[in-house]
Amino acid sequence: MTGGTEALLRRRQLRGVEFVPLDAQTKRPLSGVAIVACMDARLGIETIFGLEPGDAHVIRNAGGCVTPDALRSLKLSQERGGTSEILLVHHEDCAALSDPAGDLAQCIDRLRTSNELPHNGVVRGFLYTRSGALREIRPRRAEKLT
Ligand SMILES: [Zn+2]
Repeated sequence: MTGGTEALLRRRQLRGVEFVPLDAQTKRPLSGVAIVACMDARLGIETIFGLEPGDAHVIRNAGGCVTPDALRSLKLSQERGGTSEILLVHHEDCAALSDPAGDLAQCIDRLRTSNELPHNGVVRGFLYTRSGALREIRPRRAEKLT
């Protein structure tokens, strides 16, 4: 497939997308939340959470995994963007992960026990299901406490 970028630019022009000057907005997300999610095109993070520009940092990669680069982005989000909560989103039928729920539980644990982040008191993870529901995943460590 070629011309995908041109098609997107043309779509933007046809839709008359409203230009929101960057300088008119704060760099600090209004929700105080940084979201790490899979890059799967079917996963419309902005739509799922009703996000508008300025609402949240959205960090995406294959699987929505907590990679060193995702950690670097989260650290920057907290130190310079003022976020203090982390929301992870994995999904069923993921091409990048064979066990999205299991991986998500590990990611939550990893962030909650991380010494690299200024804030890791609020880390929640959700699995987006085939039916479009969000199912909260709790790591085993947390389940034992409840
Ligand atoms: Zn995926």
